[in-house]
Amino acid sequence: MRGDWPKNEISLSEGKRVLFLTKDLDLIRKQLYDGLDLKMEDLSIEDLLDDINTDVMTPAWVCFDHSPIEIAKNAYAGLMHNGIRVFNENALKDGNFEVIVSGHRKGTGSSRETAPQCERWSGIKIVIAASFAPIHEQNNINLGQLMGNHAMLTRLQSGESITLSEFTNRYDPVTKIILEKGGLFAFAKSLKAGEFTLPAINTPSRPMTMAEKIIARNLVGQNEGQCVKANDPVIAQVQGGYSHEFTTAQVHNFLIEEYGEGYSLPNPSKFAVFEDHLLYAHHNPKFVPHMSKVQTLRDLQIAFQQHTGVRDYSAKDGVSPGICHQVAREEFIEVADFIQATDSHTCMGGASNALTWGVGSTEYANLVSAGFTFVKVPESIRFELIGSLNDGCTAKDVILYILSDHAREELTLNRSMEFGGAGLSSISADERATLCNMATECSARTGICEADDILYDWMLKSQPHLDINEMKSRAVSPDEGAEYSGGIHVINLSEIVPMVAHPGNPDEGIPSDPTNGANIADIGQVKIDIAYGGSCTAGKEDDIAYYAMVCQAAEDAGLTVKEGVDFYIQYGSGIVKEMAVQKGWHDLFSRVGINLIDPGCGACIGAGPGVSINSEQVTVSAINRNFQGRSGPGKLYLASPLTVAASAFTGVITAWKDDLFN
Ligand code: SF4
Repeated sequence: MRGDWPKNEISLSEGKRVLFLTKDLDLIRKQLYDGLDLKMEDLSIEDLLDDINTDVMTPAWVCFDHSPIEIAKNAYAGLMHNGIRVFNENALKDGNFEVIVSGHRKGTGSSRETAPQCERWSGIKIVIAASFAPIHEQNNINLGQLMGNHAMLTRLQSGESITLSEFTNRYDPVTKIILEKGGLFAFAKSLKAGEFTLPAINTPSRPMTMAEKIIARNLVGQNEGQCVKANDPVIAQVQGGYSHEFTTAQVHNFLIEEYGEGYSLPNPSKFAVFEDHLLYAHHNPKFVPHMSKVQTLRDLQIAFQQHTGVRDYSAKDGVSPGICHQVAREEFIEVADFIQATDSHTCMGGASNALTWGVGSTEYANLVSAGFTFVKVPESIRFELIGSLNDGCTAKDVILYILSDHAREELTLNRSMEFGGAGLSSISADERATLCNMATECSARTGICEADDILYDWMLKSQPHLDINEMKSRAVSPDEGAEYSGGIHVINLSEIVPMVAHPGNPDEGIPSDPTNGANIADIGQVKIDIAYGGSCTAGKEDDIAYYAMVCQAAEDAGLTVKEGVDFYIQYGSGIVKEMAVQKGWHDLFSRVGINLIDPGCGACIGAGPGVSINSEQVTVSAINRNFQGRSGPGKLYLASPLTVAASAFTGVITAWKDDLFN
């Protein structure tokens, strides 16, 4: 569809327009519907929307379409003003735009490739922002979308041509080639045809971080023992990965388009498909009209699984085996693996001392068929944990603190967040998974924890076939003197207090964001309507144990869930549910008035029981992100499992303490 794009000289095309995503949403409307054309020189970056998340660009229901052309029709369907869409159907495409402009951190949130697809298939070729969320930037690169800054746009709008290399020079040599070829598929074909050779790595022997060590171990086409450093562009072998029903259809179709109907995968046994995201989609009235599309996604996933022979985690009798990230760590992610999957919370696997991150459908299609992928070695930031958490505090409070303190300042941006230190030994394997899971909310590339006996014990319990000595010999730890571009940050766990991330204040231009950290002691009385405990972040065994601890104390005090509050618990996997049943917690939850939901994603993605139904409702939730509209139109506070459970019995956001119900 792109003909000779990108050209060597980039200029604005005759008759094409530039769309500015301004904080003043009326200005966006005037550009879309009244023909208003703005100039960068008349605006400042502060006038532009920051933190545009991928849910806003393509909300979940838009992703029910797998064809990018259909997806583009509903570009930016999630940008709402007073409950009304700013972008009507086809508005972006019909506006004849080729450039789209926003402020800081474009494309935060989910890794969904549908977000840049909605722009590309609406005719956008150049994306301007002050900074990009890492996965979103990579997805743009893979689709051949040029990204530039506001100064470049000013020059383009004054009629200047800018060389293609000015758009690509800031990237490593491999990424530069991908962009200049017009995207990942064009790059891969050109490489296969021998039209260019990849640059050699000449990084000398050096101390390495955990992420660097795992990548170095998986290098393709390099000498044994070759070291890497941050930003080295390399090809690396991938041990495994997975996709789910939101993404598999695109992967299958892309592979058919590129390699024909008879394509095959070289190593399907450690790749998988999951049916977890849309099992409860019919609970959301907004999704009901789209259920035939959901069925198409399921059917195409089954077709892919049967065609390739990857592991099958389809629902049985309407019940999912669990959320992909939880089941993957329970069943097949091993110590020091390099895992890639089509979901932003893939980084949760880092709790198993593995290197794991989310990729878009294009990248996944490439790597699942080749067995290796192109990687720019991430920079690292180290969190040296000391002390131990006080009662009433959990790993969720730690990561909410890091979000408000380090991530807000972009220290974690695109970096591998390395967790280690003596304090790690006071944090369970499941709690480490919470830390790594929310590396995504920190806009980091991934999170990874050091290995120790706590991890090995958990791995052996989950995957009894593993060999402890082999695990120990494969495990990675950072070398003395390894380089941390993001710095080494000591966190004294005993100083962590129970926190929330608040839903912001749209009237003051403060978006609902996981970095909006606040100590519970400082937020006053916040009355709640919904408490939700579940999701990949908070549906693990230890999370369920936290809910159970609070529920037992409540029952002992003669309490049930506060009148007027709906409390939902959704298990992260079938194994987690089985454990809850065996321990009697499932019955306990029922007795105190909790709505229990079978494993899977749900309210977290606005597709299941527990979503808010009007903008006045307040939810306290143990999920990982509180972007506006993601879990319904209400206000959502992120909090720990303990806080969620305690709040459900008091009716206001409440930190847990042992004597709370005395
Ligand atoms: S539980 Fe929520 S965040 Fe986790 S994988 Fe499912 S939709 Fe994504």
